[in-house]
Amino acid sequence: MEIFDHITEHDHEQVVLCSDKESGLKAIIAIHDTTLGPALGGTRMWTYASNADAVNDALRLSRGMTYKAAVAGLNLGGGKAVIIGNPHEDKSEALFRAYGRYVEGVGGRYITAEDVGTSVRDMEWVRMETEYVTGVGGKGGSGDPSPFTAYGTYCGIKAAAKYQRGNDSLKDVKIALQGAGHVAWYLAEYLHKEGAKLYVSDIYEDKAQQIVAATGAEFVAPEDIYDVDCDVFSPAALGGIINDSTIDKLKCSIVAGAANNQLADEAKHGELLRKKGILYAPDYVINAGGLMNVASELDGYDAEQTHRKVEGVYETLLTIFERAAADEVPTYVASDTIAEERIANIKRLNSIHVGAPRIKRG
Ligand code: NAD
Repeated sequence: MEIFDHITEHDHEQVVLCSDKESGLKAIIAIHDTTLGPALGGTRMWTYASNADAVNDALRLSRGMTYKAAVAGLNLGGGKAVIIGNPHEDKSEALFRAYGRYVEGVGGRYITAEDVGTSVRDMEWVRMETEYVTGVGGKGGSGDPSPFTAYGTYCGIKAAAKYQRGNDSLKDVKIALQGAGHVAWYLAEYLHKEGAKLYVSDIYEDKAQQIVAATGAEFVAPEDIYDVDCDVFSPAALGGIINDSTIDKLKCSIVAGAANNQLADEAKHGELLRKKGILYAPDYVINAGGLMNVASELDGYDAEQTHRKVEGVYETLLTIFERAAADEVPTYVASDTIAEERIANIKRLNSIHVGAPRIKRG
């Protein structure tokens, strides 16, 4: 692999390869863009098929974080790290503390957090070696981001209803939830309180049945969730679920949910949704509540203030929907454009000199 070709393709700033033979650490820290601030993004631990796959994942995910932070109005750049290893077998204090020392070594240009395969405990080990870590437990920590992600998603569904149906009330609105995990649980609570009619599926039926018991939702087998006659399809499980075999089944007029990377092929399926008149709330915009929550740790964590910030997802999405309609582009293109414009505008501001020159006389 021509490493610099990959790094320059999407303008990444820095990629750090970290190795510690004794603890077995092999990690990659990717920093995409720090125009808006230090790069914040989680650390993923995964058994990659090859080192090249791990590098590509770090590059792709860190770039995604740049867009997510930019649209969310945060003064943060985009970064992400991956640790190559099996999260069920290869974890140790030494490995995460070695990793923490590398994070410290980047000098605050990258701030980490949990992600797939890492936990609060792992981040507490990282914290022993560096202050550049968020999502830790205890005093000043922001804890579980799921309730904030769910609240932002709820606000986002309301914004989509407002735009598509002319009214943001979700009373009697039929919403199909794919997945009954952490985010879905809190989201179902908000939706139920507002009187929405819920349908829920999970590959573990007992998880879905817990939501059924709490909200009166109707259980749907996982393979049937796309066919539900509903107003809103809300993915809260896996990525890639809007694809060639599912897109024609959808009966909804809105796709709005917390799952990451919902469109299997952004260009193709984003455009297809648009042509079908299905309003798509870009995933990284509607699920930014969790990022806002960890980011608020940097300024002294305040849950109430974070809650208010997360409500901004509503207005942000309306702006994106309007921009997409005006430009006649899919909504994900409109949100990418808004992110790029914000970064370009702030970059330009940095060209205005501030501070007095040191003048030596005599
Ligand atoms: P989770 O693991 O708690 O829940 C996911 C649920 O989906 C699990 O119950 C799982 O059994 C179920 N599932 C998996 N495949 C399924 C299928 N084919 N059909 C139906 N159900 C299936 O995860 P979570 O934290 O609730 O996150 C949900 C989604 O939201 C993920 O895509 C995640 O990346 C995204 N997200 C989460 C957060 C957060 O704060 N937790 C933030 C941003 C994005």
